This record gives sequence, C-alpha cells and structure tokens, in this order.
Amino acid sequence: MMKTMIEQIEQQFASDNYSGICPEAMAAMQEANRGSAQSYGDDPWTARATELFREIFETDCEVFFAFNGTAANSLALSSLCQSYHSVVCAVSSHVETDECGAPEFFSNGSKLLTLPSEDGKIEPAALLELAHRRSDIHFPKPKVVTLSQSTETGRVYTVAELQALSNAARDLKMNFHMDGARFANACAGLNCSPAEITWKAGVDVLCFGGTKNGMAMGEAIVFFDKKLATDFDYRCKQAGQLASKMRFLAAPWIAMFESGAWLQNAAHANACAQRLVQRIQHKEGIHILFPVESNAVFVQAPPSSLEALRALGWQFYTFIGSGARFMFSWDSSLERVDQLAEDILRVT
Ligand SMILES: *Cc1c(COP(=O)(O)O)cnc(C)c1O
Repeated sequence: MMKTMIEQIEQQFASDNYSGICPEAMAAMQEANRGSAQSYGDDPWTARATELFREIFETDCEVFFAFNGTAANSLALSSLCQSYHSVVCAVSSHVETDECGAPEFFSNGSKLLTLPSEDGKIEPAALLELAHRRSDIHFPKPKVVTLSQSTETGRVYTVAELQALSNAARDLKMNFHMDGARFANACAGLNCSPAEITWKAGVDVLCFGGTKNGMAMGEAIVFFDKKLATDFDYRCKQAGQLASKMRFLAAPWIAMFESGAWLQNAAHANACAQRLVQRIQHKEGIHILFPVESNAVFVQAPPSSLEALRALGWQFYTFIGSGARFMFSWDSSLERVDQLAEDILRVT
C-alpha cells in the first residue's frame, strides 16, 4: 500500500490541546513500554505516580486516572452527589457548556445550576443567594459547587477567593470540586503550591489536567477527602475509564512531576500569553477581554480585523465573549507568538 504523507500545519494557538506531547511525557511512555506489567493499575508505574501526587500535594490523597477531562469531571461530580441533588457552576463553565451533558448523564440526572459570571469566576454571595433561594422538596438540593482553576477565561482564583468559596460551601453543607484542566497554569500563575490552592483552601476533589499540560492524554482525579472516594474505582470502570494498560496513563505523570516539567510547561505557556498581551494591548481598536493570569488571551477587535487574521491563516475560536481566544502551551514558539502579535497589529 502507498504510504501517505500527513500534512503538517503551522503552529496555531486556537487551543492548548493543539500541541503535541512534551518530551518528558513521551519519554515516559517509551520507558514504560518494556516487557510485561500488571494491568488495570496494579503496576509499579501507577503506584509511583500515586505516591508522587501525595508528595506534590503534601497529603495522603486518593488518586485515579481517567482518559480525559469530561470523564474526570463528570465522574468526580457524580461521586459527590445523588441524582436528586444539584451542582452549582459558572454559566460559562466547561461542565455546563462543553461536556455534552456528561455530568448530568453520569450522575443520573443531577441538575447543573448556573451562576452568572462576567469573567468566568463565581463568587460566594451568588452561591449563597442561589442556595438559599429555595429549600423546598420540589427543587434539586444544591450539593456540590464546582469551579475551574484556571477559568475558561484564563483567570485564576486567589487563595483568599477559594477560601471564601469553600467556607460558603461548607456552611451550606456542599462539597467543593475543582476542574483543574489547567491546574498547572494556575499554580504557575499564582506562584502557589498545589496544596495551597486545593485542600488547604477547602477543595474536596480536584481534576488535574495532564493533557493540556503536555501529556498525550490523561487526567487525574484527586480526592483530598478520602471518604468521598469510596467505590470510585467502580465508577471509573463502569464509565469505560479504567485503562487496562494503565501504566501508559500513569508513567507520564511520574516524569512530569520528577522533572518539574508540569510547572515549567505551564510557566512557559503563561509567559507566552504575557508576551502576546504586552505587544498588542495598547493598540487602538484592541481590547483585552479578561485579565491575563494564565495561558489565555482573549482579544476583542473589529470583526473585519478578525476576518483578516483568519485570512492570514490564523485559527482561533470566538465562542467566549465574542473575542478571539488564543491559548498557549508547552511548545508555543516565541517567534510564532511574535508573528501573531505583528499580524494582529497589522490588521487592526
Ligand atoms: C479542556 C477542558 C476540560 C477537559 O476537556 P476534555 O476534552 O474532555 O479532555 C475540562 N475543563 C476545562 C475548563 C477545559 O478547558
């Protein structure tokens, strides 16, 4: 059969999952690819990765590995509530807008209740207001609050903000879940330790994203309240999220943590976002929609400018706030970031 050549596109910043696999994660897959190993997570790589999560988070947490973020979030949320409960989230959150109803599906119908949000963040006052609005039996009882760190808009919650939300959640007897598809970017952006912005701030369960951090695939579900992890392994299996060759999901985490690549990758992506925003923010006609605190830049420009940018070959989404979204990753090249900046300035 003829060998076909797969065409290579120029680097794009449409999403942080346009990037490939970082060398550390790739090498770890290769290293794990030797001989036989126990399946379904009974292998030494999974044990070592779990141990490293406990070191990085400075606590004895329970850790599970799933293939992607939708599954991690949905299964985590479903473990925190019953079907007659509700999950409170930002109106712009990934669980609400980008998971095709999976949280409701996996929880057998727990309803998502959305809080208004200008910038992707939620606030304790809005949570309290919603939770107190109804207390009768006809309304799905709020049981979980979930937020994204960093947010879909590239913002980050400070420790104080997290603490205030978790205090509110605790007062309401609600569990606190964090969607950390870009958790590393938040750690780098805040210069905070993983522990500081999770369990020390009251987070019960974290979904820690490996994919956008530079892995081929894989998200870790980290339970800081171990009681909440009861039977979670069954939930993963039933949902088709128990990898039989688990070592290949687990091994990259080992390399990411041992090398420090998880944080370096995120810091590089964040720095690229800063580089872009610094080059374009003062140009007339350009408005940066959200403060740049992680690896995302949302650029509002006249529609004709965005069209011209596309005509120059740039790919980007405009589904949040009508601005063009640019997301940077571990492999974003500074030259390419500068090229984007120049092109934005040229067409605006
Ligand atoms: C990317 C992302 C996810 C995970 O998405 P999958 O495509 O299911 O891996 C979850 N939450 C947020 C905020 C994301 O950006």
